[in-house]
Amino acid sequence: MTIQYENLKAALIRVTGEPDKRGRFKCPSHGGDDYNLAIRDSDKKVQITCFSHKCDGVDILASLDMKLSDIYYDNKLSKKTANWILPPDRLARNKSIIAINAIMLQHNPNHLFSDQDLRAICKAKTELEQHYLASYGGEI
Ligand SMILES: [Zn+2]
Repeated sequence: MTIQYENLKAALIRVTGEPDKRGRFKCPSHGGDDYNLAIRDSDKKVQITCFSHKCDGVDILASLDMKLSDIYYDNKLSKKTANWILPPDRLARNKSIIAINAIMLQHNPNHLFSDQDLRAICKAKTELEQHYLASYGGEI
């Protein structure tokens, strides 16, 4: 068993309790009482399978306060991807740019953005996408 497997198993026991005789857990994502969640070591990562609701691995991990990179054996981010993680002030700034403009559009769907506004919104959107992709251990 890998350390990633042991960590995931410990998190599942903490959140949903001990597994059944077959080693299956209750799925923390859809929250049923049946033992439908299987975990096993595969080539590159711990495989997580919810057999009843086909819950997404990211959602299951989020319910355990874990992220995708926690189940990959080689979870080192490339230098490029690591640079996508935004400092907190930049993250907050980008979120507020999107939020403010979304509210503006709700009030006036015909609002015309200036080229400068559009560039700022697109940049914020791209930076946020890259930030969250990198945060969940994704790579492009
Ligand atoms: Zn599920």
